[in-house]
Amino acid sequence: EQITLEQIQSIIKEKNVELLHLQFVDIEGILKNITITAEQLDDAVEGKIMIDGSSIKGFSPINKSDSYLLPDLNTFVVMPWTETDGYAEARFLCSVTNPDGTLFEGDTRNVLKKTVARAAEKGYTVSVGPELEFFLFETNEKGYPTTELGDKGGYFEPAPNDLGEKVRIEIFKTLKAMGLTIEALHHEVAEGQHEINFKYDDALGAADLATTYKWVVKKIASLYGLHATFMPKPVFGINGSGMHVNMSLFKDGENVFFDESDQLQLSTEAYSFIAGILENMKSFVAVTNPLVNSYKRLVPGYEAPCYLAWSASNRSALIRIPAKRGMATRVELRCPDPSSNPYLTFAVIATAGLDGIEKGLKAPAPIDEDIFHMTDARRAELGIDSLPGGLETAIAELEAGEIGLKTLGEHVFNEYVAHKKAEWDNYRTAVHAWEIDNYQFKF
Ligand code: GLN
Ligand code: MG
Ligand code: MG
Ligand code: MG
Repeated sequence: EQITLEQIQSIIKEKNVELLHLQFVDIEGILKNITITAEQLDDAVEGKIMIDGSSIKGFSPINKSDSYLLPDLNTFVVMPWTETDGYAEARFLCSVTNPDGTLFEGDTRNVLKKTVARAAEKGYTVSVGPELEFFLFETNEKGYPTTELGDKGGYFEPAPNDLGEKVRIEIFKTLKAMGLTIEALHHEVAEGQHEINFKYDDALGAADLATTYKWVVKKIASLYGLHATFMPKPVFGINGSGMHVNMSLFKDGENVFFDESDQLQLSTEAYSFIAGILENMKSFVAVTNPLVNSYKRLVPGYEAPCYLAWSASNRSALIRIPAKRGMATRVELRCPDPSSNPYLTFAVIATAGLDGIEKGLKAPAPIDEDIFHMTDARRAELGIDSLPGGLETAIAELEAGEIGLKTLGEHVFNEYVAHKKAEWDNYRTAVHAWEIDNYQFKF
């Protein structure tokens, strides 16, 4: 059900939409936008709005910097918080194009489109349901985040006196008004931590939804004087924020991962998909977990995985198969975090899984024991490998592996590796609060 230009025009007229925000993302998935007046709609839809690609992270060099925005009509939505009597603003998510109208290879949304097209060549539609967790922090007089958590609630706790619960419900109302199908919302395990779940979609739609979600969560929180962050591990000693990615493949309207006759009711394709992820995980974790801080979440004891194993039920494993079967059969990858670019994250996972199917890889035996509390010897005995312990190793694995270059293409791959190396070097040479605490007095 594609929305037509005529339908958009009539909404613009009816709500008196005056401004249109043309949004796109940079290589890190950070939302960018240029605002045009509604009179420019026709030009925009024809892909005539130009941007300077040399000022966008990961885009173009200064001598080839002209890029254009191509709005995706399906992403048109009126922004509920701008609506007053007789005034409104709306937005489109856009793909970035070259001056000749072809899709710009440095745009990560285009990267995911290519992955989706490769899956389609084999007859597959990729379905994705991401679960993005976030923290709410209090802000200071200037509106900047402090390190005070926004509420004192815990897992599934109703906390009607906390601002956290109120804001979570306001975010839900806004997302619903924007057309997202919300399934559940809850307080997460950590103080100040929340999660709101929306319905799965095809891979590109789900990445657009994740991008929209991050934007709206931050926006609505700020209206209530709170700062929402998708930073993976904002507080030492408590749970961090993940973005579990639930993925399945469909062919001719059927879920390919479901097979009633199997002991776990999983198909050969499902096992190969799992095997493809496990085999390649170390080489694409720099994409799904992109920050220095990401690796401070991937440590034992906080419901985030650090070992390469799968299980039907085990939350200490990297891959879990949620209990639902039939059309809802899916693989849940638990390491990605919400600071990653969802377009790239979904693309590398799908590529690795499809690679497993193509090569007919066999999944290792599932691990149903608690891996967090296993001895090193027991893990070695079971052949359980670990995720990289930090960004430096993860980047080296990305460079050496196949999935990164194959999925991202040369432009994004080279830019990504270069930016991540610079980030690591910056971190490596900085002097951190921990060093001052532990060394300054003693030595
Ligand atoms: N917050 C956990 C993580 O870092 C996940 C907790 C959960 O959803 N069960 O991944
Ligand atoms: Mg969840
Ligand atoms: Mg959760
Ligand atoms: Mg989950």
